[in-house]
Formats: sequence, C-alpha cells, structure tokens
Amino acid sequence: MQKEFRKIRENLEKRRREILEKISGEQLLQTSGELAHGDSLDVATSAGDREITFMLKSRELDELRAIEDAIQRIDSDDYGICANCEDPIELKRLEAIPWARFCRACQEELESRRLTGNSDLERF
Ligand SMILES: [Zn+2]
Repeated sequence: MQKEFRKIRENLEKRRREILEKISGEQLLQTSGELAHGDSLDVATSAGDREITFMLKSRELDELRAIEDAIQRIDSDDYGICANCEDPIELKRLEAIPWARFCRACQEELESRRLTGNSDLERF
C-alpha cells in the first residue's frame, strides 16, 4: 500500500464506522418502537415506514458501498488510478473524495455527457 493512501484508508474506515453506527442506531430505535405496538395493523404500518426510511437512507448506503469499494481498491493496490484514462488521480482529489474512480478531467467529461452513475457522490 502506498504511504499516502494509509491516511485516506483510515479516514474511509472512520467514515464507514460512522455510517454503520448511524444506520444501526436508527434500526435499534425502530425495533424498540415496534415492540411498543402489537396488532397486525401496526406491523403493516411500520413496514411501510421502514420502506420510506430505507429510501431516505439510500444515499448513505450508496456512500457506504463507495467507501467499501475504495477500501478494497486500496488493499488490492488498485487505488488512485483513473478507471477511464488510467492516469493517477490527483492526491488532492482523493483526499477530498476518497472514493473517486476518475481523475478530474475524466469526471468532468463524464458529467458533461451525463454518463456517470454516481455523479452525486463524486461532484467536486
Ligand atoms: Zn482520467
């Protein structure tokens, strides 16, 4: 692993923990809320609520996936290389967006063509 990626990996792990704690904390709250109720109508209602909560959380889940992907790429020495032009991605950019898969020039080009799937996460 390259030395400069060590700190980025630490930051990624920290952010990953934060998201996991946040998600599991919310699930705990939901579970204890469900325990207070009993009949089937309440169960149906809370299932609907959970779906809405899940949709609201999809941004965090997307980020979690991107973080885990980035950690995996650091571990397999596949990190910091643009997935499009295979040039090294600027370290400054990686520090700002540690899960970035494209160098800035390629990202801008992709965004202008609107071909990127998660431009929301990688806007810079
Ligand atoms: Zn590139």
